[in-house]
Amino acid sequence: MKNNKLIIFDTTLRDGEQSPGAAMTKEEKVRIARQLEKLGVDVIEAGFAAASQGDFEAIRSVAEVIKTSTVCSLARASENDVRRAGEAIKPAVKGRIHTFIATSPIHMENKLRMTPDQVVERAVQAVKWALEYTDDVEFSAEDAVRSDMDFLVRVFDAVIQAGARTINVPDTVGYSIPAQWGERMQQLIARVPNSDKVVWSTHCHNDLGMAVANSLAAVLGGARQVECTINGLGERAGNASLEEIVMAVRTRKDIFDLETGIDTTQIVPTSRLVSSITGYPVQPNKAVVGANAFAHESGIHQDGVLKHRETYEIMRAEDVGWGANKLTLGKLSGRNAFRSRLKELGIELESEELLNGAFARFKDLADKKSEIFDEDLHALVSDEAMEEASEHFKLVYLQASSQTGEIPHATITMSENGQEKTAESNGGGPVDATFKAIETIVDSGAELQLYSVNNITSGTDAQGEVTVRLSKGGRIVNGQGADTDIVVASAKAYLNGLNKLYSKSERAHPQV
Ligand SMILES: [Zn+2]
Repeated sequence: MKNNKLIIFDTTLRDGEQSPGAAMTKEEKVRIARQLEKLGVDVIEAGFAAASQGDFEAIRSVAEVIKTSTVCSLARASENDVRRAGEAIKPAVKGRIHTFIATSPIHMENKLRMTPDQVVERAVQAVKWALEYTDDVEFSAEDAVRSDMDFLVRVFDAVIQAGARTINVPDTVGYSIPAQWGERMQQLIARVPNSDKVVWSTHCHNDLGMAVANSLAAVLGGARQVECTINGLGERAGNASLEEIVMAVRTRKDIFDLETGIDTTQIVPTSRLVSSITGYPVQPNKAVVGANAFAHESGIHQDGVLKHRETYEIMRAEDVGWGANKLTLGKLSGRNAFRSRLKELGIELESEELLNGAFARFKDLADKKSEIFDEDLHALVSDEAMEEASEHFKLVYLQASSQTGEIPHATITMSENGQEKTAESNGGGPVDATFKAIETIVDSGAELQLYSVNNITSGTDAQGEVTVRLSKGGRIVNGQGADTDIVVASAKAYLNGLNKLYSKSERAHPQV
């Protein structure tokens, strides 16, 4: 292992998926995984195999298609978890098991109800179970930030002796600050025997807005793997954001002197894809991938940038993939051009039938919108896949009207298990009327927690992408829909959310 390589471990599909409503289907995970591979991440944590049968199968599918990145499953330090993870990653060219156990007094006493001795013993045992499946075993000490230093040294020493190859030090609760976190990494590397035989890793949460800063401090302290997610998606306030870590290391090479395997021009396309699949929009002022990240509003800045770009820009927009949303297809593009562009985007439709359906939608869209961008194709395929997956509710017909001075009204025809039903309703606006009409038929009892519209590309003929977050009985789902008509997109999103609510798949959500 060259010492100047920084391993990028992406956990969008595992920790990122733990954001409320961000649960992904197998197909969605495979699409994101293919894009992550194109982006050049070293390790893809594809899920938590013991969480549910669905997640197990999703990890397996990712393991089957991914060739250059390592595919990893999370596992608690229990025999069942580790064996499930081992089975799930079996098809992978390079597979990793990531096992963890809590090491802080508060977690050991209250959650695990285990003594420190038992925790060490179990950690070692978990590593040994994992080694039956792969020699690439990672061990994490959950809540390391609140763990006793001497105890951490003892646990890490034991798991390294047992054969763990990567040692991850997570700030599970987002409590650390950079100076402390960097020092902790340095001390661990100095004190743990054989620390030079393993890769040191960090995993930081953003509860105090310092996930990226803490991760970078750990890197300066000697960590050579960072666990992060696209757009900083993740449990609560999220994880360290991959794009910020990668661009910081690259832009400040004078400080870090490290290389990553990331093709930075794939950053923005990856961000868009993850945002559209999970229903988590990116804030405009988000570093690197926000819509304003490279916009210069002030006249003085604009003047400076026009004269000499480096006056105000430390990175180039095109280096992270902005402006790469080139016009790809138009009205006259044929089925082959459509198919090959999808292939270039890493989208492989499983059957001719799906391809035909997607192509018909593409032609429809091209009638309404003269220029079709890559983002449109992603949205279109998402839509197609969602419709395919939604056995329960489907949109058949929608008529919504709004006129100043009149009460907005909607009539909807939808099919429920193949049976068509029609309803109408008034509302505060056409979207409200549409949702009320749907509820007249469904009577779901779900609560609408969030409604947002984003345009997929620029221009008034762009497709609107709508996200709705529904909650019912403690379950939260995000529904999405895209269309050039935002009322239709809203109806699709609402039905997609209802379909997710009706397809019950409970899963356990461990925190690392
Ligand atoms: Zn985490």
